[in-house]
Amino acid sequence: MKNPCLGCGVCCTQYRVSFHWSETTAHPFGTVPVELTEPLRRHEVVMKGTNSAKPYCIALAGVPKVDAYCAIHGSHPSCCRAVEVGSDQCLRARRAHGMPDPELDPDLDPSPDLDPSPDLPRAA
Ligand code: SF4
Ligand code: SF4
Repeated sequence: MKNPCLGCGVCCTQYRVSFHWSETTAHPFGTVPVELTEPLRRHEVVMKGTNSAKPYCIALAGVPKVDAYCAIHGSHPSCCRAVEVGSDQCLRARRAHGMPDPELDPDLDPSPDLDPSPDLPRAA
């Protein structure tokens, strides 16, 4: 069964993606490229493109629902990793894009590994 995140990416076009600035490369241990973020509040930054009425993360590559993937997967913010397949955020994003819940599609794994092997680029 296929990981539902492979090619999906609709949750990267649905929400504001904000997190503590120390997750960016402006901090010695941060991983998220700081140039892909912009300031939000005092200690918080946001992924460019997502602080908008129509969010679309700058790091999303490919075409959502077709071949989308996170171009910084592995270095992406913790809040993205926290969006699990089948979570409220996942289901709301999928439904908003006319996609079935993963558990209703027999080809999809409803509870895949959160981080499959790095040679399988995925969104979220
Ligand atoms: S978490 Fe859900 S909405 Fe986000 S990429 Fe995976 S399947 Fe798609
Ligand atoms: S998983 Fe990647 S593309 Fe999706 S919102 Fe997070 S940083 Fe952006």
